[in-house]
Amino acid sequence: MDKLKKIAIIGLGLIGSSIAHATRRGKLAAEIAGHDASSDVLERSRVIGFCDSLHDDVAGAVKNADLVILCTPVGAYKSVAREIAPHLKAGAILSDVGSVKGAVVRDVGPFVPKGVNFIPAHPVAGTEFSGPEAGFASLFDGRWAILTPVKGAKPDAVQRLKSFWQALGSQVDVMDAGHHDLVLAITSHLPHLIAYNIVGTAHDLEKVTQGEVIKYSASGFRDFTRIASSDPTMWRDVFLNNRDAVLEVLGRFNEDLSQLQRAVRNGDGKTLFDLFTRTRAVRRAIVEIGQDTPSFGRLPFQVYVPPKKDGKKPSKKKSKAQKRSPPQTHVKPRAKPKRRRAK
Ligand code: NAP
Repeated sequence: MDKLKKIAIIGLGLIGSSIAHATRRGKLAAEIAGHDASSDVLERSRVIGFCDSLHDDVAGAVKNADLVILCTPVGAYKSVAREIAPHLKAGAILSDVGSVKGAVVRDVGPFVPKGVNFIPAHPVAGTEFSGPEAGFASLFDGRWAILTPVKGAKPDAVQRLKSFWQALGSQVDVMDAGHHDLVLAITSHLPHLIAYNIVGTAHDLEKVTQGEVIKYSASGFRDFTRIASSDPTMWRDVFLNNRDAVLEVLGRFNEDLSQLQRAVRNGDGKTLFDLFTRTRAVRRAIVEIGQDTPSFGRLPFQVYVPPKKDGKKPSKKKSKAQKRSPPQTHVKPRAKPKRRRAK
């Protein structure tokens, strides 16, 4: 792909910072500009050094950008879109990474100025960690990115965004937003809902102590706790914005669960054995196509070390990324750090 003059990343958490790292790794843009609503996140991003410029006003970040990617929780998209719309360059691509797509078209679409190419996208890659320290360059390697262009999207702009995601390491599929939401409801949203529910149920059990839940967690429960530790803001927004598709697959899930309940009650071993054999084959197929390896999506990430409370300053040793290109900061100094919003 042709090198971009400027990419703007709005929201510098796990996904935003990973896009910045991977963009820098592939030398895909001359300038990586970043914005986050939290001054704390901006400061931590400056320390890590994955952006060339950091802005506390979103307009400054998107100005003259060829590609703008929204990487905030989906619930913030509408207000961000309203704010950036007058500052987008003609011919620019406006995209996002939201885990739902129909709601993004609904919330962002009306604000997109004529001449700007709006192409929603979703990298099907992530971890249960959040924040700028959680990002890493290889997050998208070998994973799928789904583009859901709106009606009338220019094919050459879709191709440019496709090439960008391929250069980040992804395989790319293009589909309709509604179909995306149904597919992800079963492969991602429902599993998260089940994990949140089972961990909540265990937490509320009166006859099993919290100590026992944690001590014996190896027996299956532990994997659910990993998923159920995912960011509450992000997942609240997913369920608020993909209600119909989630309710559809949840209805089907409940019917199947009732059948399993009946099989357990009736001692129907054949039903149980047949299902467990089928599900084992699904797992094998996922492993065979390389969509799970021991390190898949679970690579080590940078750990944020906050300034020491004893008054000593943190180490000034620079990361490799910082040495290569120190970020310019367009952040007005504040008397006090802004408090992080309640989740
Ligand atoms: P994250 O680590 O929590 O990062 C989101 C960042 O956006 C935070 O720094 C947040 O600041 C900031 N933010 C919130 N409202 C904002 C606003 N109005 N303007 C500017 N910045 C704002 O979340 P993430 O995991 O990267 O997820 C970001 C997006 O990626 C979501 O839309 C999600 O659906 C999508 N996604 C996530 C995954 C995953 O596995 N996590 C996978 C694929 C796609 P505060 O922390 O101060 O609120």
